[in-house]
Amino acid sequence: MDFSISEELETIRRSVREFVEKELFPREDYIENEDCLPAELIEGARKLGLFGTSTPEQYGGLGLDMVGKCVVGRELGRGHAGFSGFIGAHTGIGTSGLVLAGSEPLKQKYLPMMAEGKMIGAFALTEPDAGSDAAALKTTAIKKKDRWILSGVKHFITNGPEADVVTTMAVTDPSRGARGISAFVVEKVFPGYKVGKIEKKMGLRGSHTSEIIFDQCEVPEENLLGREGEGFVTALKILASGRAGLGARCVGACKRLIELSLRYAQGRVQFGKPVFENQAIQWMLADMTMETAAAEALTMQTAWKVDQGADIIMDAAMTKLFASEVYCRVADRAVQIHGGMGYMKEYPIERIYRDARITRIYEGTSEVQRMIIAGQLERRGY
Ligand SMILES: Cc1cc2nc3c(=O)[nH]c(=O)nc-3n(C[C@H](O)[C@H](O)[C@H](O)COP(=O)(O)OP(=O)(O)OC[C@H]3O[C@@H](n4cnc5c(N)ncnc54)[C@H](O)[C@@H]3O)c2cc1C
Repeated sequence: MDFSISEELETIRRSVREFVEKELFPREDYIENEDCLPAELIEGARKLGLFGTSTPEQYGGLGLDMVGKCVVGRELGRGHAGFSGFIGAHTGIGTSGLVLAGSEPLKQKYLPMMAEGKMIGAFALTEPDAGSDAAALKTTAIKKKDRWILSGVKHFITNGPEADVVTTMAVTDPSRGARGISAFVVEKVFPGYKVGKIEKKMGLRGSHTSEIIFDQCEVPEENLLGREGEGFVTALKILASGRAGLGARCVGACKRLIELSLRYAQGRVQFGKPVFENQAIQWMLADMTMETAAAEALTMQTAWKVDQGADIIMDAAMTKLFASEVYCRVADRAVQIHGGMGYMKEYPIERIYRDARITRIYEGTSEVQRMIIAGQLERRGY
């Protein structure tokens, strides 16, 4: 296993780091206060190709493999989570269904616009009565002539208010359980598509989460994604590949927390010396660094396995689980190292602490990841 990166990828990494430091860091307070991503930031991301990292070059994207996407994800993760969440949902769960299972005409119709950021992507699986038990979803799709008619409500959909194209799971054959679920590419302009309630959240400001309502929504038959009845498997594949990317964003955020905490501890003087000189603080920083390195190694190993075409269900679950839990522990210690300042909105630590929390919940909770890992142990042995 070799994690050294090509010159081309190193150039991309450096340009994303520069973008994050020059364009994103100065706008973080604005994003936080206004709950909005500035237009010039979106434009900068477009120019850099950040909307097309997952999209193959033939459809106008950067065509990065999973290691490449994780290298970019690590850099984006250092910046405001609302921005990296918006981009991550678009390029990850919002785009990868089309890349993995789309017909050629569907790819040609949507991917170039999505890669340019002219169409925003989202992924709609969760419903009010189908969260962890996603296969219990109730949204239906009934075939009528050359249309599928979708009826139901999705909730907690990242990029819901902004999305132009939504990979949506719906039941096409209720007698077949998970095998009766199909995936569709639904455009916001299709008749019967509505954005519902927009949630008020603990964090992730700038990234918006909403209901999407399908009120007899008319979807052309060619917008079935993959084959009928294969939608749940497609959803699981999308989520598994997305988990390495989420791990990378968690690692990036941890690195920022370590940088900020080290700087603060070296500058903050109590009892006549920088607080860094106390072993208690050094040990916290040592543990933060060690756990982040372990999360990074696991993330990159999973990404490498994805690129080898290996079965990564268990690796992806372990990566998401471990990286998100490390992120929360690192954020907690960062608050502690900053003392009272860690609790104040004047410093970014308070925001990052809140933003860390969601990573243990969305794209499958920590409990669900443990269920997947245990299930794989039972199936494959160890
Ligand atoms: C900000 C945000 C953005 C999101 N974005 C998207 C999106 O873009 N697209 C999308 O489709 N969904 C999205 N989600 C939904 C997200 O994936 C779900 O919230 C998550 O999967 C958990 O489902 P739930 O909220 O219904 O919790 P529940 O399933 O109700 O779980 C409640 C608790 O019970 C635990 N639990 C449930 N079943 C078991 C079990 N068998 N054993 C042990 N513990 C169990 C859970 O781990 C959790 O702790 C988003 C959610 C949030 C909050």
